[in-house]
Amino acid sequence: MDKHKIKEAARILSFAHFPIALTGAGISEESGIPAFRGEGGLWAKYNPAEYAHINAFLENPKKVWQMLKELDGILRAAKPNPAHKVLALMEAEGLLKGIVTQNVDNLHQAAGSKRVVEFHGNAFCLRCLSCGRAYKKEDMSSEQPLIDLIQDVPRCHCGGLLKPDVVFFGENIPTRALLEAQVLTAACDVMLIIGTSGEVAPANYLPYDAKQHGAKIIEINLEATILTEAVTDIFLQGKASKVLIALEEEIRGMRGKKS
Ligand code: NAD
Repeated sequence: MDKHKIKEAARILSFAHFPIALTGAGISEESGIPAFRGEGGLWAKYNPAEYAHINAFLENPKKVWQMLKELDGILRAAKPNPAHKVLALMEAEGLLKGIVTQNVDNLHQAAGSKRVVEFHGNAFCLRCLSCGRAYKKEDMSSEQPLIDLIQDVPRCHCGGLLKPDVVFFGENIPTRALLEAQVLTAACDVMLIIGTSGEVAPANYLPYDAKQHGAKIIEINLEATILTEAVTDIFLQGKASKVLIALEEEIRGMRGKKS
């Protein structure tokens, strides 16, 4: 890890007025959830382009639900890792104003982050494709989905097909999440990008929007991405948890010196 770059990033963050984070699958990789790109058992078995496309789901919901059940087991077992916790701490200390996440795993909220925009939805919720009714998987007080025993897929009480409330390829971003992400991006003077390949649109437009109005871009990733050359001011190479811990310690040290 480049100590000089950590110091520079810490200085920028500690003087920022409205720093935000944009996170991707890489931040949850250390919680045991494989990212799409890079090595990952689940995605080597199920091609996301095939299984995570809305047309694939509509054509063969049973096949996609089989993959979703396997993913569900992984998501349920996952706990926030130090990277999620550092971001929650930074928000509590006023060093971060919000997070736009592409992840659907609920781990930012589980770590204690308050202002989280779920750009691609949340895998712990289900929505009916016919009537729009939402179900929370964990909420036993609410009515539970019906199980279609012939198809082995969950169904709504109206009979409609249930789909996890996540954005599949080929679907639009929910308007509210899109607007909230755009508002945070428009307001930010620093964007901390963590664990995203920058390959998935339209989430990958946000760093360009931020850059365009003069925000500083700090990127944390194991390797350079298509964003690194295009928009990044400071690239911090390494695992999200290790880099974020170092960054938070550096900021703490600077604050100690200031007071
Ligand atoms: P991606 O899979 O395209 O890229 C992951 C990036 O994270 C890569 O650039 C990789 O180098 C980096 N990375 C991996 N481990 C890291 C670590 N420990 N520390 C730092 N960086 C690390 O992910 P994406 O850009 O978020 O796009 C994929 C899409 O897949 C997203 O839209 C997301 O919704 C979905 N997805 C979500 C989850 C989840 O909810 N946890 C998991 C897989 C995929």
